[in-house]
Amino acid sequence: MIYLNGEFMPIEDAKISILDRGFIFGDGVYEVVPVYSRRPFRLAEHLARLQASLDAISLANPLGDAKWSELVAKVIAGNPWEDQTVYLQLTRGVAKRDHAFPKGLKPTVFLMASELVTPSAELMKSGAKAIVLPDFRWLRCDIKSTSLLGNCMLRTLAAEAGCAEAILVREGEMTEASASNVFVVKNGTVLAPPKSQLILPGITYDVVLEILRGNAIPHQVRPVKEAELRSAEEIWVTSSSREVLPITTLDGKPVGQGERAGKPGPVGLKVHALYQQFKARVMRAPAHA
Ligand code: PLP
Repeated sequence: MIYLNGEFMPIEDAKISILDRGFIFGDGVYEVVPVYSRRPFRLAEHLARLQASLDAISLANPLGDAKWSELVAKVIAGNPWEDQTVYLQLTRGVAKRDHAFPKGLKPTVFLMASELVTPSAELMKSGAKAIVLPDFRWLRCDIKSTSLLGNCMLRTLAAEAGCAEAILVREGEMTEASASNVFVVKNGTVLAPPKSQLILPGITYDVVLEILRGNAIPHQVRPVKEAELRSAEEIWVTSSSREVLPITTLDGKPVGQGERAGKPGPVGLKVHALYQQFKARVMRAPAHA
């Protein structure tokens, strides 16, 4: 069951105009909220990031947070899975094709859910493969825009190389991955690139930083050089669906050195375990957190 412009319906019945600016220009923004045991995780943060994306593209939010929360709850209730991802999308609406933003349109509002599949125990044991690619996307990657052609091209190149992710580098520095943020461990310290217009401010990224701070795990938020990525002891990608996933092969070479090379490292495994505990604690709390 999905929600489209005021109505709940089966996905097969949902129709939009071919003149919707989301279809014509990718003129829209979105969010993906993980749901555990039918409770959304960090919904307030996802709605705040949605608002930031809307502000960045000068699109007024047609709904308040209470209404968004109600719609999310209804979509969760209308779908069969205990663990879901709820996808929210807003586009500027329907208008004659013209690049400049038309005023006064009614935005298209769409929500759907799918089953949340987090990395299997097997994948967590082996870790995943990634390749390094030049970040050829635009300069506003902080906006969670539905215009994802660059990300799709990069992820396809990764998939064609048998990899789960493309880790991106711009002007000699690591930015993020095609659909996740990236952390590396260098000389025992976790490094994370600072938030900027060149990366999406990940909700999972924030949770991981809270975990690092709360557990006194040495870390620095600072630019990460491509050379540091390539010589890292550990690499992890983070996102709402991948959580904290170790990358154990980079450009066909094992990540790390010595007998740990090519295996998930101790810091990432610890953070992954702490992330699971964090989630379980939040989900047990009486109110949505
Ligand atoms: N960076 C990009 C480009 C993404 O598409 C995503 C998530 O889909 C992320 C980072 C991670 O964000 P989050 O942790 O909020 O899922």
